[in-house]
Amino acid sequence: MAMELNLGGRVRMKKPHPCGGSIFVLTRVGMDVKLRCETCGHEVELPRAKAERAIRSILKEEET
Ligand SMILES: [Zn+2]
Repeated sequence: MAMELNLGGRVRMKKPHPCGGSIFVLTRVGMDVKLRCETCGHEVELPRAKAERAIRSILKEEET
């Protein structure tokens, strides 16, 4: 079952970004997934399958 990734949604990655942040915002969801680090603003693009493996959890809207 595919992970439910929504544009604008926030996810926690298994491995933190070099800046120390581990929360990313989804800025593109498709065959490729684009994520922007919430801490430093850096964007990364990954094939969807790889992105799904790298995500620890999808945050609920109220989570910080
Ligand atoms: Zn960062």
